[in-house]
Parts: sequence; C-alpha cells; structure tokens
Amino acid sequence: MVSKEVEGHADVLIAGAGISGIGSAYHLQTQCPGKSFLILDALESFGGTWRTHTYPGIRSDSDLYTFGYRFKPWIGPPIATAEEILTYMGEVIDENDLAKHIQYSHTIVGASYSSVEKLWTVDVQCSATGREKRYTCTFLWMCQGYYNHAQGYTPEWDGMETFEGEIIHPQTWPKAVDLKDKKVVCIGSGATAATLVPAIANDCAHVTLLQRSPTYFFPAENRNELADELRRIGVSNELVHEIARKKALFDQDETCQRCLTEPDVVKAELLEAARGYLGPDFDIVRHFTPKYRPWQQRLAFIPDGDLFQGIASGAASVVTDEIERFTPNGILLKSGQHLEADIIVTATGFNLSVLGGIPFKVDGEPVDFSQTVTYRGMMFTGVPNMVWVFGYFRASWTLRVDLVADFVCRLINHMDRTDQDEVQVALRSQDQGMTLLPWMDADNFNPGYLMRAMHLMPKRGGNPIWEHSQDYWKERESLPEIDLEAEEFRYARKAAAQSSAA
Ligand SMILES: Cc1cc2nc3c(=O)[nH]c(=O)nc-3n(C[C@H](O)[C@H](O)[C@H](O)COP(=O)(O)OP(=O)(O)OC[C@H]3O[C@@H](n4cnc5c(N)ncnc54)[C@H](O)[C@@H]3O)c2cc1C
Repeated sequence: MVSKEVEGHADVLIAGAGISGIGSAYHLQTQCPGKSFLILDALESFGGTWRTHTYPGIRSDSDLYTFGYRFKPWIGPPIATAEEILTYMGEVIDENDLAKHIQYSHTIVGASYSSVEKLWTVDVQCSATGREKRYTCTFLWMCQGYYNHAQGYTPEWDGMETFEGEIIHPQTWPKAVDLKDKKVVCIGSGATAATLVPAIANDCAHVTLLQRSPTYFFPAENRNELADELRRIGVSNELVHEIARKKALFDQDETCQRCLTEPDVVKAELLEAARGYLGPDFDIVRHFTPKYRPWQQRLAFIPDGDLFQGIASGAASVVTDEIERFTPNGILLKSGQHLEADIIVTATGFNLSVLGGIPFKVDGEPVDFSQTVTYRGMMFTGVPNMVWVFGYFRASWTLRVDLVADFVCRLINHMDRTDQDEVQVALRSQDQGMTLLPWMDADNFNPGYLMRAMHLMPKRGGNPIWEHSQDYWKERESLPEIDLEAEEFRYARKAAAQSSAA
C-alpha cells in the first residue's frame, strides 16, 4: 500500500453501527474493558437496516423480546416499528456511552492485513467531507450486515421501460410518494410485501399483492400476555425481559421442531389461521399455500393478521400468477389478466453482499471469500484476526450477536492471557480431504437472495465446526464450550514479541 497518514489505531475496529455493531461494542466494552475500539459506519447515524428502510409500516417480523439484546429489557409490544427499534438502540448507545467510539459517514473501502505487523490497515472514505482516511487495528469485527444497503434487488422484466407510472423498491422508498387515488401493485410475497400492503391499503385507491408463489404467514396478536401480566403485578422490566425472552425462545424452539417433525400439522394450522381471517370461500390453496415446508424460509409474523384483514376488507387483494411483461399502465400476467397500476412496488428482496463488498487483502494477496472455509459462520480460513457477525434466519438475528460477542471477547481475552497477537483458523489433520460444500444447505434454507449469491459465499465442510449452523438452540450450548486451544486455532506472536519472550 502507498504510504498514507494513519488517522488512529484501535485494538478492535467494528465495521457497522447496526444492531450487530452496537451490541458487539457493548459486549466488548463490558467483557474486555481494557480494549480501545472504534465503530465505523457508512450511514449518517446508527441503526443500519432500521434506518435504511423507510417504507410505510416498516417493522420487525420477529418479537423484540428475542430481537432485543439479552442485556437491555424491551418494554414495548413484541413486534416493533423501525422507529421504536432505533429508540431502543439509541438508549443502548447513551446508557453505555458508546457515541464517542462511533464515526458515521465513514465507508470502509479496503482492509489489508500484514502478518508481519499483525495489524489490519483499514481505508475509509468519508462521505461528509470527501476525505480519505486510514486506520489500523489489531482485530476486525465485521458487523456490516448481509445485503447491499445502497440498492435492493429488482429483476428485469420485459417492457419495464414502457411503464408510465412510478417503480419503487422498498429499500429506497422516496421521501414523498403520493398514494392518494393511486392503484398500486406490490410485487413480492415476503415480509416486506406483507408489511407494506396493509400499511398503504387505506391510503391508495387499491393495492394488489402480486406473487409468483405463496409464503407462510403467522398471524397473532401484537401483545405478550405473559409480559403484560408480569408487569401488572410489579415485576421489574429486567425480570420481565428475561422471562418473556425465555418463553418466546421455548415457543420458537417448539415451533421449529414441529416444523421438522410434523410439517403437515403446522402447515394445516397456519392455513387454518389464514382461513379464520379470510373466510371459507377464499382460495387459500392458491394464494397462501407454499410449496416448501414451513420454516424452510423465514416464517413471517403478521401482527393482528393485518395483511389478511386488509384483504378481507377489500382494500387489498392478492394475485398469484407470473409476470408476462410490464405495459404502459400496468402488468400483463401469464394467465392473460392485466393488472392496472399507477405505482409498482418491487418488494423483490436484496442483493446479498459478502462482507460489505469490501476488498480484503492478506499480505498483499486479495481474499476471495468463496475459496475460504467458514469456521462456525464466524471466522474464515486464511483470514487472521477477523470475525463476522451473521445472525439467525429462523430465530432473531440478534440472539447470535450476543453469542458471537461472548466468543470473540473470550478469544480476545485468551490471546491477552497467552500473549498472542494473531489468531486464525485452519483445517485440522482430520479435516484434510473434507468435501467442501456451498455455505448453506439449500434444502435447509433457501431464500432467493441467498441462492443468487451462494457462489460468492465461503464454503462449508462436513464437520460441524466448519458449518454455519442456523440453530440457536444448539449454538447456545456449543459456542460457550469452544476450546480455544483446539487444533483449528492457530496463534502467533509478532516477531519482536517473540524474541523478547525467548
Ligand atoms: C426490512 C427488514 C426487516 C427485518 N426484520 C427482521 C426481524 O424482525 N428479525 C430478525 O431477526 N431479522 C430481521 N431482519 C434481518 C436484519 O437485517 C437483521 O436482523 C439486523 O437488523 C441486521 O443487523 P446488522 O447490524 O447485522 O446489519 P445492518 O442492519 O445491515 O447494519 C449494517 C451496518 O453496517 C454498515 N456498513 C455496511 N458496509 C459498510 C462499509 N463498507 N463501511 C462502513 N459501514 C458499512 C451499514 O451502513 C449498516 O449501518 C430484517 C431485515 C430487513 C431488511
């Protein structure tokens, strides 16, 4: 690298001030109190996903007793708006004095590791000033999320350029959209479409959810009876959080297990719940009966069945069909039906981004993550002093933020105690010749954004330590038990430290 002035050094540099980065910073400060740290984020403030997405109705689809951190009680309704999540995160930052560690509008544009210096050099572009900066750090804690924040995924359809109305991707929802008297078609069947459609149903002339294939939805009241009752009898917020969290985790585990052991029963229950809102004459088979097993893709929670209520009221409707092409005033479907539209919303998902799209180098050699093997979805072979936080799909993302943080803090403290400057993971003797497989088993979890980018993701191996498990209930036992002196961990000291120790 050309010499450039180094702006500052931190023991740990956290990439991203979303819910993962802020949680990781809390744990680092609490569990490794002597470590200096810096958090960099490309956005102008904290929150990541919850700041980027501003479409109508934006909310969580998992409950905040588990999506919230284990250390900070959640006191609102289980399904929260983006604003409520940002307020919660803001409180974590204030209560723990984290703001002084964060630099916003700082995009990491390159990271280069020197195995001689045992140091990362991180190049940054400041969007506020246009300045380029450089930082160094010993450890990189990657909390940059999993998708490209600048642009969502929109497929190419024939005739798109002929459409005379507005095409909007929810990830880049414009500040002012006039929905009054407009016919809206929302393409997609995931959590985003399910949130957006009921949220705008009463503000536009009509909204149609257009899906190629159905999704499972889980309608339930947006209240936690147990938490409400505990609060009513004077139990502290801390204890309510702990109990409600345990109960939510127990219930989710039970649902997950049932989805594996009796998928048909769970499926029948979900369809019956939909029928309860939509009535006996609604074509549930066509519109709300997916081909996959429940939980093979994220099961979207719909508070108070609002999507079904919107459809039942007539303000919204659902069409299950394929797009033939866009027309000047709508969408022509393969069945021959034409859907008129003034606005088309493409709730068609994300572009997966592997490690924020940042070019990484180790000793001058570019890192191709697809050629690395993941260590439990946290570290990568051949990439020293770096961890990646990638949460759960089937359980709340943040549960893994807490677990990974415990592991990282234990690892950092272990390195201090044993006087090491570098750690990396490597295949063990017993792993030689191990078959390398795509990062995620498509039969296990297969959302579109993952399938489109699987070839870019690190590989997994047949041995469980080389897999990215999506099982919180197993990992909460296995991650704390990791033996940091096991063969897969390779430690090293800086040359100077080595000779003085000798
Ligand atoms: C609309 C929506 C709803 C969701 N709802 C749920 C839910 O209910 N439950 C659940 O478990 N999960 C949900 N998810 C998944 C969700 O993304 C995660 O739960 C979680 O918010 C991710 O947090 P994160 O901090 O890891 O990543 P992000 O929220 O993506 O934040 C990453 C941060 O890193 C920054 N960053 C990225 N690259 C760089 C770079 N090169 N330089 C500097 N900064 C960088 C970004 O600016 C961003 O602020 C949802 C996702 C979406 C999009």
